[in-house]
Amino acid sequence: MSTAEAPRPLFAFHPEELAALCVELGGKAFHAKVLRAEVLERGVLDYAAMTGLSKTLRSALAERAPILVGSEVARSTSGDRTTKLLIDFGAVEGRSGAVETVHIPSLELAAGKGATLCVSTQVGCPVQCPFCASGKLGLARNLEAHEIVEQYLRGRALGPVSRSVVMGIGEPLLNYANVSAALDVVHDDLGLGARKVTVSTVGFPDRLRKIAPEKPRFQLAISLHTPFDEQRDELVPAMKGVPIEEVLAAADFWFECTGREVTYEYVLLAGVTDTEEHARHLAERLRRRRCTVNLIPFNPVSDSEYARPSSQAVERMQLALAERGVVATVRWSRGVADDAACGQLRVRAATARS
Ligand code: SAH
Repeated sequence: MSTAEAPRPLFAFHPEELAALCVELGGKAFHAKVLRAEVLERGVLDYAAMTGLSKTLRSALAERAPILVGSEVARSTSGDRTTKLLIDFGAVEGRSGAVETVHIPSLELAAGKGATLCVSTQVGCPVQCPFCASGKLGLARNLEAHEIVEQYLRGRALGPVSRSVVMGIGEPLLNYANVSAALDVVHDDLGLGARKVTVSTVGFPDRLRKIAPEKPRFQLAISLHTPFDEQRDELVPAMKGVPIEEVLAAADFWFECTGREVTYEYVLLAGVTDTEEHARHLAERLRRRRCTVNLIPFNPVSDSEYARPSSQAVERMQLALAERGVVATVRWSRGVADDAACGQLRVRAATARS
């Protein structure tokens, strides 16, 4: 087979390239639009079901531009209908190419409408936070934009998606070009507006300063986890030596450029990040800033030295911040009891295979 005929994922084509492909395969340029609308607007994931295109064109496209390229290798659904998918995008040098996508139906909408989709951006993660399962196997590679889009397509097949959090496996700012290209599709074609998509990052200041003037169309969440520089070096190893004040100053710049407030994520590790002193220093750093803190009680990962705080400790922290003028919300994670935290399904699958 010549390289020109090698299959290439549908969402690796720019719309104009897709139009050229349709013509090359005997169709018309506008068929590219029909095709994208079938997939993006109507959620059709199988060429055979696209009756608006001729049978010949459909089968030629199925060969040349497959819609889905990953394979679902595990699925678990919890009592609250949260579904976690493990999608394999192909092994890299013998290492698994699997990532997680989580579909979390909204609790408020009893009718079953609307869910938050949590997507991954890298196969593995280079940040290596000691409390997180995602970095345990290191970074294998960046996900391509079409692989990020595919997570949305597969997620939507589980039920309507009304919000998205880019908080799965990986560090989005270290794969920004692909994340941003995928989020353009999510924004323009799937109709999730800037307020409906949140990107979570450890907050590399120079990268934030570079992208903020472009006014990216998403909300920013920064994983801060502690007000103390030395402790942050331990909890977020990839940020070692970067002062917290620099991260906060870059976040202020983001707010100036975009007009959207930043959320600070803060993992509560019992006795490690949930003390009165932590609350006091965190409030000192954030008091004069327009922002929200999102407290995340630690989700135990296997072999972890950390423990989940009691609900009283969580409340105490929230109150201690509120008393000092800092708004904090609590995110009790939902999902599959055994492997609810980031990266756990993937680590378990890898361990089971070896
Ligand atoms: N790399 C990005 C996005 C992925 S993690 C980031 O660090 O923001 C998404 C959030 O889940 C981060 O705030 C992360 O610190 C948190 N997290 C990871 N493992 C966790 C665990 N076991 N318990 C609670 N929160 C966890």
